[in-house]
This record gives sequence, structure tokens and C-alpha cells, in this order.
Amino acid sequence: MSVKCQVVMDIMDKVAPRILAESWDNVGLLIGSPAQNIERILVCLDVSEAVIERAVQENYDLIIAHHPLIFKPIKNLRTDLPLGRMIGRLLKHDIAVYAAHTNLDTVRGGVNDVLAELLLLKNVKPLDISYEEELVKLAVFVPMEYKDVVQTAIGNAGAGQIGNYSHCSFSVIGVGQFLPLSEAKPFKGNCGILETVNEIRLETILPAKILNKVVKAMLKVHPYESVGYDVYSLKNKGNLEGMGRIGELNEPTTIDEFAKIVKNALSTNQLRVVKSGNKVVRKVALCSGSGAEFIGKAAYAGADVFVTGDVKYHEAQKAVEQGIHLIDAGHFGTEMPVVQVLAERLRSCMEKQGRQVEIIADDTSRDFFTVI
Ligand SMILES: [Zn+2]
Repeated sequence: MSVKCQVVMDIMDKVAPRILAESWDNVGLLIGSPAQNIERILVCLDVSEAVIERAVQENYDLIIAHHPLIFKPIKNLRTDLPLGRMIGRLLKHDIAVYAAHTNLDTVRGGVNDVLAELLLLKNVKPLDISYEEELVKLAVFVPMEYKDVVQTAIGNAGAGQIGNYSHCSFSVIGVGQFLPLSEAKPFKGNCGILETVNEIRLETILPAKILNKVVKAMLKVHPYESVGYDVYSLKNKGNLEGMGRIGELNEPTTIDEFAKIVKNALSTNQLRVVKSGNKVVRKVALCSGSGAEFIGKAAYAGADVFVTGDVKYHEAQKAVEQGIHLIDAGHFGTEMPVVQVLAERLRSCMEKQGRQVEIIADDTSRDFFTVI
């Protein structure tokens, strides 16, 4: 059993929408074709030579990686150099490559949330908002007796979701008027005669991205031959997404104790701790991978400690100056946990669609750094 690569791409776009990627990033299908058949998928952090070798030996058709193999524009494809050699080998063995990078960092349930969950944080929110969901208002005119059926259909399609409430809508009673032309097949009245109907103006709010789905569901149950409805752009925004996370610990602890929690949760022996006095740790900010640029933001947001990777000397100095503890748990250490979770999520999406594709999480890659 196999699926077209496009099927996997569509699922990946639900798991980590490309719209969430930073503008400088390079995500999506990087090598291969949406039309190629996929039977086996290897999920990993980096498309390294070792990962490619495994994909060749174990007949994988697609590698889904967090870090994009092709990042900067390519000016040559020299097979005597590492990147050209890797791309050449992938093409030779018909292995496609897909990347989900900053979109997987940002998305709910992605790299940062996996890290926040491992550190047992609660009340978790994005640290640096980079995306605000666009909302629209849909207003549709419905004959009285069809109010409930239309209301239910658009609610079931996802419209009217406000916080912890679904199927939210507002309706007012009014009178609709229409003149059926000669070709018309009116729900009520006759051709050539002006008709009035008691109608409801039903309005609801929804994310712009599901507008087509909601309108389709509405048209399916609406009794009119030609349905009158309006779609308005709104200034208010929906879900906020962004890089990093900030949350709270169940109980306050010391920086030494918290460092142990991080070390155990990430199963790493590479933890560098920058202490800023004896400050108790309650609020925790984090950013998977290289997040030192958010130290100031984390301190400003009231975090007692910031967990990330790739910290340099002067960034550590900045943390101390800003009165926030800093834990460098490594780029690899803070990101590798997502690989298992992503593979699991893909598997469950495939199963829901009744597709049979083998999805394996890379468990052999190791951090480039070792500690002596
Ligand atoms: Zn990374």
C-alpha cells in the first residue's frame, strides 16, 4: 500500500501549516514530486548522511525533517561537496525530502509545546507572537423554518468558535424580498411575481481559512436556489501563534532542582546553567533550538528561567544582567523530542484517513556535541 506524496504534504500542512513559517525559512517539499508514491516515511531532525544512508538501506521513500536540507539558494550541485553529494544520493534513490521547520516550532503541539509538556509546564502561551489568525464574519439570510438546520450545519463545520464555546451565532428576524425570473425554480412563490418571506439574518464569526468549508456546508442545507450571504473582513484576530512558550511550574523550586528536572526530561548529559542569584523558579520561558534572542523577552514577561540551546558567552552575561536564570540544554536536546511526537501524529492522521503507510521516527541520530 502506498499514497501519493501530495497526500502526505496535505496532512503535514494540517499538522504544521506552512503559513506559520518565518519569511526567511524554507519549508515544504524540498526534493521529489507530489506525484511520487510513498510507502515508508522516516521522520528525523536533520537530513544527515547517516539518515540518508539508513533511508537508502531500509527503502524509505520520504524523509520528513525539522531542519531544511536546502536552506540558502543553491548555485551549483557539486557531488564532491556534502550538500550536492546528499542531494545526488537522494535523487538517485528517488527519496523525497520534506521540511517542517519554524512552522513546526510555532504550531500548537509542535517543538516548543513538546518541550513545555516535557518540563510539565501549565498555562502555556506563546512567548513571541508572530502570527494572528484572520477572522471573517458570515451573514446569511435563511427562511425561518430552516434556521436550526443552517445554524447546526455551519456550527458543525467550525464556524462560531469563541474560546471555550462552539456554535456561537446571532440572529435577527426580518423580511426578505425577491422576484423569481423566468428560469428560476423558487423555494417559495412563482416566476414573475414579487415574493416576500419571513427570514432570519444569521451571523457568525469564523477563521478565514475555513470559509470555503463553512459556505459549502451552509449551501448544502439551505433551501434557496440562489442563497444570499455576505462575508466581511474583520479587524479582530483569532488564535495567536508564535515562537517559544511561557508557562508555570506546579510548585516553585530552586534553579538547581529545576535544572535536574530539565536534564531528566530531555535525557541529556549536556546542560549548562547560568544562575542569576538565588531567584526561586516559578515561571518558565523556553525556546527550542537557538532561542537566545528571546532572553530579554522572557525576562520582560516575568519568567524566572529561560530554557533554550546554542547560548553564547555574552548572551549568558545578558541573562544575568536581566535577572533571569538561563539553561542551555542544547539545540539537539531541546528539539529531538518532537521527532517521536511528529511521527505519532502523522501515523494517527494516516489511520484516520484509512491509509497504510509505515512511519518510523529516527532514534539513531545523536547530538554532534559530546562532553568530555
Ligand atoms: Zn533547530
